[in-house]
Amino acid sequence: MGKAALVCSGCGKGAMWQNRYFCPACGSHLEVRYAYDEMDARQIREELENARSFWDYRSLLPVPEPKAEITLGEGNTPLLKSARLGGQLDVDLYFKDETRNPTGAFKDRPNAVGISVAKSMGIRTVTIASTGNGAASLAAYAARDGMDCYVFVPYTTPAPKVAQASVYGAQIVRVKGDYSKAYQLALAAAQNFHWGNLTSTYLNPFTLEGDKTIAYEIFFQMNRQTPDWIVVPLGAGAMLTGIYKGFQELRLFGLTDKLPRMIGVQADGCAPIIRAFERDESSVQAWEQPQTVAGGICDPLDGYTEDGAWTLRSMRASGGCGVMVTDQEIMQALRQLAQKEAVFCEPASAASQAAVCKLVQKGIIKAKETVVDIITGHGLKDIECVMTTQKSVDAIEPDLKALCEKYKIT
Ligand SMILES: *Cc1c(COP(=O)(O)O)cnc(C)c1O
Repeated sequence: MGKAALVCSGCGKGAMWQNRYFCPACGSHLEVRYAYDEMDARQIREELENARSFWDYRSLLPVPEPKAEITLGEGNTPLLKSARLGGQLDVDLYFKDETRNPTGAFKDRPNAVGISVAKSMGIRTVTIASTGNGAASLAAYAARDGMDCYVFVPYTTPAPKVAQASVYGAQIVRVKGDYSKAYQLALAAAQNFHWGNLTSTYLNPFTLEGDKTIAYEIFFQMNRQTPDWIVVPLGAGAMLTGIYKGFQELRLFGLTDKLPRMIGVQADGCAPIIRAFERDESSVQAWEQPQTVAGGICDPLDGYTEDGAWTLRSMRASGGCGVMVTDQEIMQALRQLAQKEAVFCEPASAASQAAVCKLVQKGIIKAKETVVDIITGHGLKDIECVMTTQKSVDAIEPDLKALCEKYKIT
């Protein structure tokens, strides 16, 4: 790790390097700041250029010693050039396929960093409030190192995600109410019992550093190009801010002059951040009665709306924008991604492709521009949502005649 400190995102005061989530002076979130000017820029450039795996970025990750690193081979996911959808939309479209992470979602990046920092602090029990992917992911990393793990999920979380977390041996806490209720309970438990809290909002200052690595990978996978747009489905939006921070670092170290414009996407049944963007507001209001097929991004931000405001600042600073998409648009994009690109993702992830279609139509994304969709989670994670809409297929007698009759093959 390069020299780094915890600094308050609100008042700018420094805070002790410890398992702490809020500034002791003003109560705002903390963030990791590196002493960039004390780093050897040429050496960092070389490290970034020559990186072969996630932990090769360790100079810009907050884990104090390699001994503490807990890894399952996260990151280093493919950047797929679009086979068809980009051509149809006349844009240069790519998919950063985060479904290839060890537990099937990008959450392995923030969790690998967060749990490794926790380990370096001597913590042996970790927790997370999650809409499912974060839970399954943390459960895996905790199992890898023999830690205890409690995951807090809204009771509506899809069964496959809960089962995945459970198989890794985590204690499953299903919470009545929406994601925000799970968030509050995990926070109270972590503070009471001194657990490491890896909830993937801006709460834990270390996890966002794992999200950053998506930016480094994209940049080198595109032969040192910064895309014009990066499209990100938003929960609280730490991933979006993390990716943007990664590009800011690439610029700082002299690898590029250009920063991408960040597009945040939410479902119109739970869109607190996009609503504020559209109203040109700088603060965010919690969403009442969230309801969407995109469970992975269904975060009403109730009790921590300042997280949404942080994401808004990142989107605006980048010259980006925010988009709402309907559940119908999401499911259509999900099927298109599977059928035209062979990328099978969960609804939350398909929201980004739905947004690209919308923004091209609106003329915000222009012809030939370079666009990267972050495909955040695997389709098998929420398999029920495609099973219920698939017509059941009748079985046939095992002979060619029956086959040809039913499928009209001639
Ligand atoms: C967590 C998650 C997101 C949103 O990430 P945030 O950093 O919370 O904004 C998007 N897609 C999927 C599949 C997720 O699991």
